[in-house]
Amino acid sequence: TAGPGYIGRFAPSPTGPLHAGSLVAALASWLDARAHGGRWLLRIEDVDGPRCIPGTDRLILQQLADCGLHADAPVVWQSTREAAYAQALAQLGAAGHTYPCGCTRKDIAQALAAQGHGRERFGETVYPGTCRAGLHGKPARAWRLRSDDSDGSDLHIAWHDRWRGPQRQNLTQEVGDFVLRRADGLWAYQLAVVVDDAWQGVTDVVRGADLADNTPRQRHLQTLLGLPQPRHLHTPLVLAADGHKLSKQNGAAALDLADPQAALRAAGRALGLDAADQRRDWPTVDDWLRAAVPGWAARFGSG
Ligand code: GLU
Repeated sequence: TAGPGYIGRFAPSPTGPLHAGSLVAALASWLDARAHGGRWLLRIEDVDGPRCIPGTDRLILQQLADCGLHADAPVVWQSTREAAYAQALAQLGAAGHTYPCGCTRKDIAQALAAQGHGRERFGETVYPGTCRAGLHGKPARAWRLRSDDSDGSDLHIAWHDRWRGPQRQNLTQEVGDFVLRRADGLWAYQLAVVVDDAWQGVTDVVRGADLADNTPRQRHLQTLLGLPQPRHLHTPLVLAADGHKLSKQNGAAALDLADPQAALRAAGRALGLDAADQRRDWPTVDDWLRAAVPGWAARFGSG
């Protein structure tokens, strides 16, 4: 195992209470930390203020506590970390990796239509690079990271997912010049998560598969900022009965914690935990959690 050096984390955005899918990610990250004899941290990702719902941070922490999931260090709120994000953006800028962008959504749509080959990926367009060579008199709105390979840089990002195996993404073609600071002045998730994972010494990122697509962007930022790269594991998605992905944004039901052990058992099933652990009714959630660690350790303890 990785020994006492292991640091894992769960990093919910307080845009709604945890749902069944969030508990799967929380449980997996907790089990992985315990299986490695490591520490487990909690970070509230409240950078996107307008999307956060007041009081939801406390609610999430209570939901986790009801399931026996307690952080091994004080909880961190990203809204207190703006100076660190500004410093990282400045560092990237000083090295020539960023540029200001004056495009509105409409400008981007028009430029893509003119090129005739706008690439859409998960509803996000690949930025056509309009402001890469200057603002042409437009006021700066957002800050972007240069992700073009025209200078010969190789932006095929290859990485290993401890659940899903080898992964690969061509940042230039599949993502493009992504935003680090938004037009409304808010910090982008990609930058904040990388800065804070490094600051908190996170060695292992364990989270839901819906975030796997962000990993190459984050690994690239870690390279550019000279930060260590954590290992990654993305857990299977939990689908709603209608086959849609559960998400806070589309109003997934909050976890039913009338019976926390039942919620943990369901999350355990989604992770393929040993059926024997599922059936036993333990006196407390802590007993359930302890019983689930060896099964996880057998699969992921040394990898
Ligand atoms: N805050 C993100 C979310 O709730 C997760 C960030 C992460 O685990 O990297 O979707």
